[in-house]
Formats: sequence, C-alpha cells, structure tokens
Amino acid sequence: ARVTRFAPSPTGYMHIGGLYAAMISRKLAKQSGGVFYLRIEDTDRKRELEDGVNEIINSLKKFDLGFDEGPFEGGETIYGPYKQSERKEIYQTCVKKLMQEGYAYPDFTTAEELDEIRAKQEAAKVDIGYYGEYAVGRKLTYEQIEEKLAAGEPYVVRLKSPGEAGKTVIYSDPIRGKIEMPENIMDVVLLKSDGIPTYHFAHAVDDHFMRTNLVIRGDEWLASYPLHKQLFDLCGFALPKYAHIAPIMKLEVTVDEEGEHQRKRKLSKRKDPEAAVGFYAEQGFPSVSVLEYLMTIANSNYEEWHAAHADKTIDDFTLSLKKMPVSGALFDMVKLNDVSKEMISKLTAEECYELIMEWAKEHDENIYTFGTQDKDGFMKTINLWKMSGKKVRKDVGKWSDLRAMFGYLYTPEDELDLQYEIDEKYTPEMITEVIEEYKKDLFLDSEDWFSSMKVMGEKIGYCPNVKEYKQNPDGYKGSITDVCTIVRVAITGKQNSPDLFTIMNVIGKDKTMGRLDKFLA
Ligand code: GLU
Repeated sequence: ARVTRFAPSPTGYMHIGGLYAAMISRKLAKQSGGVFYLRIEDTDRKRELEDGVNEIINSLKKFDLGFDEGPFEGGETIYGPYKQSERKEIYQTCVKKLMQEGYAYPDFTTAEELDEIRAKQEAAKVDIGYYGEYAVGRKLTYEQIEEKLAAGEPYVVRLKSPGEAGKTVIYSDPIRGKIEMPENIMDVVLLKSDGIPTYHFAHAVDDHFMRTNLVIRGDEWLASYPLHKQLFDLCGFALPKYAHIAPIMKLEVTVDEEGEHQRKRKLSKRKDPEAAVGFYAEQGFPSVSVLEYLMTIANSNYEEWHAAHADKTIDDFTLSLKKMPVSGALFDMVKLNDVSKEMISKLTAEECYELIMEWAKEHDENIYTFGTQDKDGFMKTINLWKMSGKKVRKDVGKWSDLRAMFGYLYTPEDELDLQYEIDEKYTPEMITEVIEEYKKDLFLDSEDWFSSMKVMGEKIGYCPNVKEYKQNPDGYKGSITDVCTIVRVAITGKQNSPDLFTIMNVIGKDKTMGRLDKFLA
C-alpha cells in the first residue's frame, strides 16, 4: 500500500497545481488501499497565515479530497505531529546524529564572508555554491567551534557532502523514466541559524518518519533529487519513490513590432486569477467538474475510459503515473467549461439546486434569496434551462452562468436591466397585440400559444408561415419568427432563449406583463 502526502505551506493560498498534486497523491494512495496524509510545511514563518491550515483542509474537503491523517481532530496518529513547526526536536536529533558521524557541521560564516566566497568562486569560474575548498566552515577545529559557541556566535548547520565532482546518480522517475544527474557536492544548509530546518532536510526526515513511500511533487524539485538521495542515505533512511509531476501551464500571447509571440509558462499566482483554486469556487464550477478536467490532464486515456463507462466515477478509474504528461499541460478553460456542462447536464434538478445554493450563499445574493424563499419557483427555473422538452440541454458550465445567461430568471424585477437589441422589423403593435392576447389567459400550452401568436401576427402584417415568407416576402412586414424574437427580447433581453412560453409561465403573469409594458414605454 502506498503512503502519500500533500505537503503545502500554509500561506492561505491554494494553487490549482496544488489541487492537482493532492488529487493525484490521494488517488494513488487510495487505489492501493493506502494512506494519504497532510503535512504542513510551516518552517517559513514569514509566509504563514493564521487560518492557512484550515483554509487548505476546507478547500480540499470541498473537492472531496479528505485526509486520513493530518493536523486536525481525529487526524493525529503516532506518526505526527503533522506540522513541521512542532517537529523541531526530531530535526535536531537527526542533525546531532549526522554531526556525530561527521556528515554535518556548524558553520559560523557570516553573510559578508559568504559574499566574498561567492566572488572568489566566480573569479575562479567555479559553479556557484558552497563546497570543496570554499566550504570554509568545514575547516574549523573542535576547539574553534567550542569557542565560537561559547561566544554565542550565530551559526547554521551544513551538510558535509561526501559527493564527488564528476560522479553521477541515476534516477528512475515513473513519469520521466531514467535520468542521469551529477551527484550533490554542495554543503547545503540543513538547519538555519534559528534552528529551523530547510525544506531539503525537513522533507527527508519527515517523509522517513511519517513513512511516506511515494513522494509526488512538482518537477521544480527534480534537480534536488541527488541531494535528497544523499540525505536519506546519510541518515540511514530507506529512500521513498519519487514522482515529479509537470506543472499546469498557460499560453501567454504577447504582441510587439515583430508580431505575435506565444510562450508557455507556469500559471502564476501573481498574474493569473485562474491559478487560484478559489477562482473556480467563485465562478461556481462544481468541484466534480474541476476534478474531472484535472483527471483528463493527468491521464490522457481518462476521457476515453469515461466515455466508455458513463455510469462510473473518478473513483473507479485506475490512475497511472506512467501515463502522466512529461511536459506541462496547458490549462484549457474552454475544455473545462465543456467538461463541466456535461457534468451539470447529468445532475438531477435537485442536485443542481443543492450545489447552486451552496455556491450562491457566498457568491450570489439574488440567487440565494430566490432559492431560499421560493424553492418551487426556483426548481422551475432549473428545469427550464436544463431541459428542452425531453432533451437535456448543455448550456450551463458553472453557476455564475446563471447570472450571465439567465439573469432574466434570477434578478429581482426592480434591479433587472435588460439590454434590448431591436430588430429593424420591429413595430410597437407587435407588443401591444401580444399584451392584448396574453391578457385573455386562454392558453393551454406552448403550442396553443404559438398558434394564437400566428393569428395575431398575421392580423398586423407578419406572415405566419416562415417558409412561405422566405419564398415571397412581398406584402409582409416580416414573419412570425420576427414577432417571437421581439417578444423574446422584450421579456429576456436576449435573441435566443429556451422556450419562451415556458419562461413566461416560470416568471409569472405579472412580471411578463410588466416587462412587455416596460419595453413599450
Ligand atoms: N512544501 C513544498 C512545496 O510546496 C512541498 C514539496 C513536496 O511535496 O515535497 O513545494
């Protein structure tokens, strides 16, 4: 069974790449009957946020990505604590052991001295770093160290790397295959001067004692693999398997004098709102849609599998690391939207209601109020955009579409500002006649209404037969379609909509009449 983990810093910001990694790590653990745990990497104190941890747990819960173990009630086991800030003694104990065995040493070199060393290395055209003859801290005698400690001089603890220049390590990544890399020869910092470990050291100690056997992490860490292998070896720990996943990318298009340039780059927290998981929640993408989409990025055979097993869910799919992309996939918002339309079309109206309300509670006051005060009426609106007769429509990809596409159903009448685009075939009688007709309140159904519209339209000069009108428009102001379009525009502000008569029924007679009157005014 696999033990995997999600190891974020509690910055309160959840990147879509983080969600992607968490989904993959959890899936691989669950597939093997294993354990998925949360470890908080809060050694970088400056970036820490008060509620960062809860934020992470809650946002993953929304995606049904729960943890078996972690820093929460019921999540603490003998493998904890699950926050690095609570594991200081463990790192210090390991560092002591490394020192005793001659694999680590305290280094009192000051920042200025380090600058000098860097300048010397540069002059000597040595790869920048702290190693070999430049690792001056190594050369201190035991007595010198004692003296400095007694004088209270600040120090970091460095690895005394046994690596040799020119030697390589061969690493086999399940995603990327075999890679040959130079052995680590740097005396990297293990503990900073405040006694806090670096990521490199902390992750080795933690992944060992928290019994991780598969580390899934971003490929920005790939180059650190030789160092990490060395740390595990020197500590006497068995090395877990590592899998480095490619980041999610964006296609950036810039234009200058030379023309258009396209560049693939990582989704950036600073520049791209869609880099944040919160963006998808705000837009109202159901969490299953986002997971579905991420799964299509993770394993390209997922889509085909899903099409062949329409009744199954992600849980039934077997994710394979070998099938993961080696280079960063582009995040495709259009595709996400399509995947999501498909997902939403499969939900029942009641399921839609629940999800919409959950979203609207935080993101749309009008929709939330409507849904709370008049559930029956609200269910009618859902059926309206979900169904077209017996056919399921696929218009809505995210709940904010309701606001954008169906504002005429969800906006309170006094805030409704319909944008009319009036056809050249418009005449006011169209509306006055419709009002007269509609007042009679005699219609059985959509068809019945449409028939009387034809009669009414013909009376004021619009051909009731569209085909006939197309062949011979002479003597007509337009056709029945033109009448219907204008009425549609008057009631919805749009040229296209689901069945108009149903809309009129759903919003009710008062609102319908009100909107027709307003259109005329
Ligand atoms: N805290 C590290 C990061 O966010 C974790 C990397 C890992 O999964 O080992 O990049």
